Amino acid sequence: MFSPLINKIVESLILRVQGIDHEKCIKCVECVKICPLSLFYKPTTKVGEKRKIFFEDPHGNCNACELCIEICPTDAIIVNNNPEN
Ligand code: SF4
Ligand code: SF4
Repeated sequence: MFSPLINKIVESLILRVQGIDHEKCIKCVECVKICPLSLFYKPTTKVGEKRKIFFEDPHGNCNACELCIEICPTDAIIVNNNPEN
């Protein structure tokens, strides 16, 4: 059993997706298609309409497979252990 401080440090080192930088996102939908846990979604839209892509992981299920990070063409995926975020 680790101390709460050690647990906090370990937790901060585990990569977890936090969301999408909507300034960078070009709505290509690649993250929606590739996430094995379907944590990204695109709201239903009218034909031809390009809406924001959303990320939701209320139960912390992201398994840090990094597929979404690798496929995103604009580095729009926000992760918890990136000092720039
Ligand atoms: S790291 Fe993997 S599981 Fe987590 S959001 Fe990206 S594709 Fe989904
Ligand atoms: S892969 Fe990147 S640019 Fe494409 S929809 Fe997802 S977050 Fe946006």
